[in-house]
Amino acid sequence: MKHILILGGTTEGRQLAAALAAEPSVRVTSSLAGRVAEPRLPAGEVRVGGFGGAAGLAAWLREQQVHTLIDATHPFAQVISRNAAEAAAATHTPLLALRRPSWVPVEGDRWHPVDSLAAAAALLPSLGRRALLTTGRLGMSEFAQVSGVHLVARSVEPPEPPLPAELTVLLERGPFTLDGERAVFREHRIDLLVTKDSGGAATAPKLAVARELGLPVLLVRRPEPPAGVQVVTDVSEALGELGLW
Ligand code: NAP
Repeated sequence: MKHILILGGTTEGRQLAAALAAEPSVRVTSSLAGRVAEPRLPAGEVRVGGFGGAAGLAAWLREQQVHTLIDATHPFAQVISRNAAEAAAATHTPLLALRRPSWVPVEGDRWHPVDSLAAAAALLPSLGRRALLTTGRLGMSEFAQVSGVHLVARSVEPPEPPLPAELTVLLERGPFTLDGERAVFREHRIDLLVTKDSGGAATAPKLAVARELGLPVLLVRRPEPPAGVQVVTDVSEALGELGLW
């Protein structure tokens, strides 16, 4: 039986786990970081918490006799992706990265791409007065010094200090609908959207609403995946590479 370890925390990771759990020739384990108190659990075996760096992950791959490692983490989860590449190389474990494609602008979009949360925070006051911030609670401290702008920050878990002075927190987990997003923009009088280029359908409606309203979007570009790692963009492609499709 082939043991496949999925580094997860994403919709695609859960979808892949569901497909692999149905394969009699596969043992699938999903790994979650443990950031969310009540995570949506994937099918198959699940382990929670860090491995202790690349060396810890490499030890886990050896002990658990992992046949193939799949990095299905979020495109912005840079540390674990780097660790996956290092651990796979050290243990000669085949590694596949599953990364949903970036969002692509269409006519009417007013996107302002930036390379970091810090760059987004610096540009923010020049683009709006009431910003919907969907970059996640972990990077919130980057916005702590923003002044003159009311931030409406949406995250699954409450953000921790340091926090911006003018802040409303919306505790919500996607997927989000177009009508729901229209209501958020209306209710909070949003005139600017700040988001990471996460890609995927679950959180894309906010971009459509910004387009409808002609509002600017501060879009944080995603980091490059580690060099030399094979990347697939959806679950069926991943199953094809695994020889299971
Ligand atoms: P990160 O900065 O890349 O990783 C920090 C540390 O967290 C890693 O060194 C590792 O600890 C541990 N870790 C991360 N993902 C793990 C996993 N799937 N299983 C076991 N340990 C993991 O990660 P992050 O950006 O904080 O993201 C954490 C998790 O949330 C990921 O699973 C990711 O898919 C998900 N997520 C992230 C974002 C985002 O915007 N970053 C958005 C949605 C979901 P050790 O070194 O001890 O192994």
